[in-house]
Amino acid sequence: MEEAVAPALLSWYDRHRRDLPWRAAPGIVADPYRVWLSEVMLQQTTVPAVIPYFHKFLAKWPTVLALAAAPLDDVLSAWAGLGYYARARNLHKCAALVAASGGRFPQTEAELKALPGIGDYMAAAIAAIAFNRPANVVDGNVERVVARLFAIEAPLPGARTEIRAAAASLAPQDRPGDYAQALMDLGSMVCTPRSPQCLLCPLQVHCRAATLGIAETLPRKDKAKEKPTRHAVAFWLQDRRSGRILMRRRPEKGLLGGMLELPSTPWRPGKSWADDEVPQHLPPGTERLNWRKAEGEARHTFTHFNLIAHLWMAETDRDLSVWGIPHDPEADAAIPTAVARMMALAKRF
Ligand code: SF4
Repeated sequence: MEEAVAPALLSWYDRHRRDLPWRAAPGIVADPYRVWLSEVMLQQTTVPAVIPYFHKFLAKWPTVLALAAAPLDDVLSAWAGLGYYARARNLHKCAALVAASGGRFPQTEAELKALPGIGDYMAAAIAAIAFNRPANVVDGNVERVVARLFAIEAPLPGARTEIRAAAASLAPQDRPGDYAQALMDLGSMVCTPRSPQCLLCPLQVHCRAATLGIAETLPRKDKAKEKPTRHAVAFWLQDRRSGRILMRRRPEKGLLGGMLELPSTPWRPGKSWADDEVPQHLPPGTERLNWRKAEGEARHTFTHFNLIAHLWMAETDRDLSVWGIPHDPEADAAIPTAVARMMALAKRF
């Protein structure tokens, strides 16, 4: 079946391909900048969520040279809402490196992988889609299709090596870019997670899972561990005269690296904060202010944990810069979604 899959899939793709803003029209060479930008945005985010951001970025920065020349804060602001800000920082760093080489992206997987923010999957995807180089492009959609085609019943993530090897046995030398996108489209439109449309599928006659009647059950997954919950109390300290609030910048490395946030207690695993535990974490020198608790809680899900935050609020006449960064809460700035949710509690007050 291995040799028959690519031709059947490519002929289906020629009739049913999705029209996506970063995709070149049939017969037109793809623009590596668009391909790269879309792949960075699409990591762990859906196509409909990415499309408006993609248009916004292209309108502001139509080339990699323009993006490299933009101030980092502008890029982070435009990125706000897509999450995972490390990606936006790497995007900017990568643009600078590509700009330094005359604005040309490298074409091989190895050279692409040497750039910031480009891992195995993305290097393969860019090499195939932008430069039409044979590559084994395996994302979550492709894993699902391949696990079903070969009826691989071992659970993920352990089965990943087997699935990659099976995917490599299908990858053609001819039209590798179209083939990679065809597999992605099939996974997104036909071989969907819950109800694969096997009757409409161009690969049905080759598909072992369809023959065995087990398509919906694949790929199997090891039972996901439940995410732990962390608790925080954030502090909204507002300058009475200017309306600005106190913020601070997170450390460059790690979660939400370098982003603005409200001062807060540590984000403690397991146990929520009792009222009498909170004052010792207030910004030093603000303990005597009239702190009040805002109603409600803000929730946010990170990759490895859930966060539940409460908000304490106070006002002051002192200059906020003695404690940190004064920030206009109405300004259009790059605020992580988790922090924006905490700030929204102030509006209920
Ligand atoms: Fe997926 Fe069904 Fe097609 Fe197999 S036949 S690849 S399970 S849609």
